[in-house]
Amino acid sequence: MDFELNEEQRAFGESVRRFASDRLADGALARAHDAAYPWEIARLLARQGLLGITIPEEKGGLGGSLLDAVIAIQELALVCPKSADIVQAGNFGAIRTFAEYATPEQRDRFLPALLSGESLIGLGMSEPEAGSAVTDLRTTATPDGDGYVVNGSKVFSSHTNDAKLFLVYVRFGPGVGGIGSVLIERGTPGISFGEPSAFMSGEEWRQIYLEDCRIPSANVLLGPGGFKRQIAGFNVERIGNASRALAVGRHAYNIAREHALTRKQFARPLCEFQGLQWKFADLAVKMDGAQLLLYRAAMNADRGLPSAYDTAVAKMACNQAGFDAAHEAVQVLGGMGYSRETLVEYCFRRTRGWMIAGGSIEILRNRIAEEVFERRFDQRPSA
Ligand SMILES: Cc1cc2nc3c(=O)[nH]c(=O)nc-3n(C[C@H](O)[C@H](O)[C@H](O)COP(=O)(O)OP(=O)(O)OC[C@H]3O[C@@H](n4cnc5c(N)ncnc54)[C@H](O)[C@@H]3O)c2cc1C
Repeated sequence: MDFELNEEQRAFGESVRRFASDRLADGALARAHDAAYPWEIARLLARQGLLGITIPEEKGGLGGSLLDAVIAIQELALVCPKSADIVQAGNFGAIRTFAEYATPEQRDRFLPALLSGESLIGLGMSEPEAGSAVTDLRTTATPDGDGYVVNGSKVFSSHTNDAKLFLVYVRFGPGVGGIGSVLIERGTPGISFGEPSAFMSGEEWRQIYLEDCRIPSANVLLGPGGFKRQIAGFNVERIGNASRALAVGRHAYNIAREHALTRKQFARPLCEFQGLQWKFADLAVKMDGAQLLLYRAAMNADRGLPSAYDTAVAKMACNQAGFDAAHEAVQVLGGMGYSRETLVEYCFRRTRGWMIAGGSIEILRNRIAEEVFERRFDQRPSA
């Protein structure tokens, strides 16, 4: 068993780190505080070969492994947390599910712009009455001539303001077996957006309304019965969330470590106080453990989709370790940690969201417990 990245992976990581230090370090703080999607950086990352890493070459991507993409997103987040969101959007998010299941015609239509940083795909999964219980979703796709009419509403979609395309979970019929997904372009008659709202991280989202929104059959990604495959694709999104959570937490930890080495109180550097040393020791253990679990999930997936269990364990560990690191970093920096002059408070706000998004840490625990007891625990009341 080898716990180290191989030579090729290390070299790739170093090249991403160099690129990020040269091109993204300047402006990282301002970017984090700007709600707008950084299109210019998206195009830069595309030219650098950091979008489409996980998508097979025959499908238009770069044919790398999931671990390559994890390395890329982590190295970027350690320098510019906001830019890591672009790596997510271009590798792990709805784009990966799209690339996995799209027809060649759908790929030809949408993938080139997504991979060049000119377009962005959002995920419309959550609904006002279907959050953790996602299979309760009510948005319907009803056959109409040679297409479908979509009616319903979605909430919390990242990049609502900027996405040019949405991968929308819909119901073609009753039950879990009736769920599938469709592609809806921004500007299609019948799609509209509510008042702007903002997450704690500063990212904006709006409720998406679908009212008699007509789409051609060519826009169906997965028909009825597609739910399991959608969630298998969504596990890649979770790996991206886990990677960013850990790396953004580590970003804050690195700033705090430097601060503890240089800031003096009581005529001694902070790092000489045992009360702070133990915080760092505990975080080092948590982050190392989470990192190994993340690598396991990515390595086991090879060039396919990661397993649900490996993903749940890795995401839970990374979400918690990343948040704990950012949380303690705020404390170590004192008043400066609570101010917008450093990225630490942003890292704290940002890592908090991943404990809810993409499968909350409670829902992940439910999934892990099922594996532990080798049985399914239905969360719904018995009929
Ligand atoms: C930063 C961020 C980005 C997001 N991006 C997107 C996106 O791009 N697209 C999209 O569709 N959605 C997105 N979401 C929505 C996200 O997927 C939901 O918030 C999440 O699924 C939880 O649903 P909910 O908010 O309705 O909470 P609820 O499902 O109402 O849950 C509330 C609380 O109860 C807990 N809970 C619920 N059921 C159980 C249970 N059975 N056992 C134990 N605890 C339980 C939950 O863990 C949570 O803590 C995003 C959310 C955030 C915070």
